[in-house]
Amino acid sequence: MTNYNPAQIEERWQKLWQKEDFYRSEIDETKSKYYVLEMFPYPSGKLHMGHMRVYSIGDVLARFLRMRGYNIIHPMGWDAFGLPAENAAIEHRVNPAQWTAQNIVHMKKQQNRLGVSYDWYREVNTSSPDYYRWSQWLFLLMYKRGLAYKKKASVNWCADCATVLANEQVEKGLCWRCSSVVETRELEQWFLRITDYAERLLYDLDKLEDWPERVKIMQQNWIGRSEGSEIAFKIREFPGEEIRTFTTRPDTLFGVTYMVLAPEHPLVKRLVEGTERETDVLDFVARVRKESEIERTAEEAPKIGLFTGRHAVNPINGEEVPILVGNYVLMAYGTGAVMGVPAHDQRDFLFAKKHELPIRVVIQPEGEEFSDQPLKEAYTGEGRMVNSGSFNGLENVEGMKEVTRYLEQHDSGCFQITYRLRDWLISRQRYWGAPIPIIYCDKCGTVPVPESDLPVELPLEVELSGNRVPSLAHYEDFVQASCPVCGGRARRETDTMDTFICSSWYFIRFTSPNSTDAPFDSEAVDYWMPVDQYIGGIEHAVLHLLYARFFTKVLFDADLIKFEEPFSRLLAQGMVYKDGAKMSKSKGNVVTPDEIVEQYGADTGRLFILFASPPEKDLDWSDQGVEGCHRFLRRIWRLLEECKEQFAAEKGVSESVQKEFDLQRSVHAAIKKVTYDIQERFNFNTAISAIMELVNAIYAYRQSARGTVYNHAILHDALEKTILLLAPFAPHLAEESWHMLGHTESVHRQEWPSYDPDKLLVDNVEVVIQINGKVRGRITVPADSSKEQLIDEAHRNERIGELLAGRNVVKVVAVPGRLVNIVVR
Ligand SMILES: [Zn+2]
Ligand SMILES: [Zn+2]
Repeated sequence: MTNYNPAQIEERWQKLWQKEDFYRSEIDETKSKYYVLEMFPYPSGKLHMGHMRVYSIGDVLARFLRMRGYNIIHPMGWDAFGLPAENAAIEHRVNPAQWTAQNIVHMKKQQNRLGVSYDWYREVNTSSPDYYRWSQWLFLLMYKRGLAYKKKASVNWCADCATVLANEQVEKGLCWRCSSVVETRELEQWFLRITDYAERLLYDLDKLEDWPERVKIMQQNWIGRSEGSEIAFKIREFPGEEIRTFTTRPDTLFGVTYMVLAPEHPLVKRLVEGTERETDVLDFVARVRKESEIERTAEEAPKIGLFTGRHAVNPINGEEVPILVGNYVLMAYGTGAVMGVPAHDQRDFLFAKKHELPIRVVIQPEGEEFSDQPLKEAYTGEGRMVNSGSFNGLENVEGMKEVTRYLEQHDSGCFQITYRLRDWLISRQRYWGAPIPIIYCDKCGTVPVPESDLPVELPLEVELSGNRVPSLAHYEDFVQASCPVCGGRARRETDTMDTFICSSWYFIRFTSPNSTDAPFDSEAVDYWMPVDQYIGGIEHAVLHLLYARFFTKVLFDADLIKFEEPFSRLLAQGMVYKDGAKMSKSKGNVVTPDEIVEQYGADTGRLFILFASPPEKDLDWSDQGVEGCHRFLRRIWRLLEECKEQFAAEKGVSESVQKEFDLQRSVHAAIKKVTYDIQERFNFNTAISAIMELVNAIYAYRQSARGTVYNHAILHDALEKTILLLAPFAPHLAEESWHMLGHTESVHRQEWPSYDPDKLLVDNVEVVIQINGKVRGRITVPADSSKEQLIDEAHRNERIGELLAGRNVVKVVAVPGRLVNIVVR
């Protein structure tokens, strides 16, 4: 007998699968397609456990559904642009392209070593010109459709990364990549008009029934739809000017006691110009503008305001209230102006207290009397309008409509829906990205690069002497261009695109990765898309997943694709922890896929990851758990080795019908459970448990038959079924075992076993049919079948019928619950 040696087995099968193009996928109209996709990685150079987890999950599905008869597409590629490559380039003094290429070679090797069933013919690399050419083409499509535009705006600036960031890339005021505090800068930048799609991005979330609720809620909050009124306040001292403000509570308009403007508000300068307050206010504005959004809006941050000396006129009652400039009001959201209603908004309440501004109750809840004593906090609930002139006594919900109607009639306000979502800032002042295909000509202005001139290629020679890879503006050969319209001297745009653009359509490119005259081939897209099952981390809930949905909708509107949502089902896998903390270098608790593969083999690693926790839950790494899974695989190996010897040495016949029946019941119960757990619930852990139970049952059967001869056919069948069930989880061991049982075809090309409900019934037995004392077949019958019924059933058996054809039956013996022996001549 040989020992289980994963290193030797795994490599051998991997080579063979590769050589025989096992996982290559082609369009086949006769089959149902299924698109399994794990989020493609950034080629950092090393796989971590999070990668191994997501690939293991995807591969189980791909292999399982392949055996179920689906035409599977399971591609992999590289999200290869981005800042880390530039940082590494400087550190190692190697070109980012070269560094990226090396990492891809290495990581691909690591992925293959895990035995994941990828179709490498579909590999894409977003940093290769034949890919980013189409990213640029898509930018131009957006441009033509009025969805890409350049404007000067206050933008997020990360000094450490030396580039601007999209709002989605700022987390609590910090850069998502390097955690530096993000500043605000006034810059001219390229944007994509994602706000045009705010409503569809929001409402179509309802169509995504198989997306995790928490991801949908995060997107919903990010899009942030609110209904309310836009209200115009005139300025007493400047009758021609007005301040527009948005509120979700027009019913509290009579409670306005002041107005606050953001320091960035364009009117601020005008309001204080030439007054005694000018210096103080402008100093304050300059100071606040240096602060980050997080500093300004933090709960505990002091809410500071300065009076401008000017007054706003409330359009509903003509009341004049002071206008202040306040640090907590942001220009980026809403109109940059807030009407202060301290009695009914807690932040306004705190601000009014601090600055001794009046507080006036205008909403009175049922059965309470606020008006006599000072409020301790703002009342934000519902109630009746009070102190509100002719609106007094109205329910406030009704009042919202009535007040807005009044404003509309008096031309000083309107009903409005606003979104928190801002347009997507996509230009980056960095080298390693897809150049924005735009040319600036003094005569013709902004000119898109003609499609036939794509790609606009990155200069390959880069300067690596400083502490940063210089941006494209640095390469004069790149910058110089001739104008596509007039042919005169012109300059190229030197910003590159946010890498999230590259990843917003890669899943479509996978359907036709070699398409050279379009970003994708329609026939292939129509067949393969949308992605049936997408798997990736929750950290992309807003960023990538929102952008990809946006791109898909734009492509749909441009009539290039026929679906509006890219990912039918989404699985957000949990994190990998060890000793209660996220695996990290600084904590010294990192286990790498390489170590596990080296020590135990890929099958053990995959099995452990899938067994330790359901995919969407966090996983706690356990060395004992890994050991346990390894022992289980060794146990299967030993079972097969032993059975193989026994099969060769003995002739098997039925000894104990009941025990055989029990074994078969275990087999069919396991098939039923594993199928259900993978397909319906993604509960791979309980599916694996069911396989473990089945292996125990087989051991038990052999144990019970020790010293006697047992039924080879039934045992053989049980082993086969076990291996088929194991194939998606431990593909190498399953392949080896399958061949040990005498098969020459791959286990991964077998049909997934189906279970027989009859075999699950406890009161059925299997009866052996012999001809002249030799086992020739088996039938399952109710345990209480009579002799006559048994003989009847035996004759109805197709195989037996064939064997008896033309023979002379001399005698039939039936033993209920056990056998039928037919003697022929
Ligand atoms: Zn940064
Ligand atoms: Zn020109």
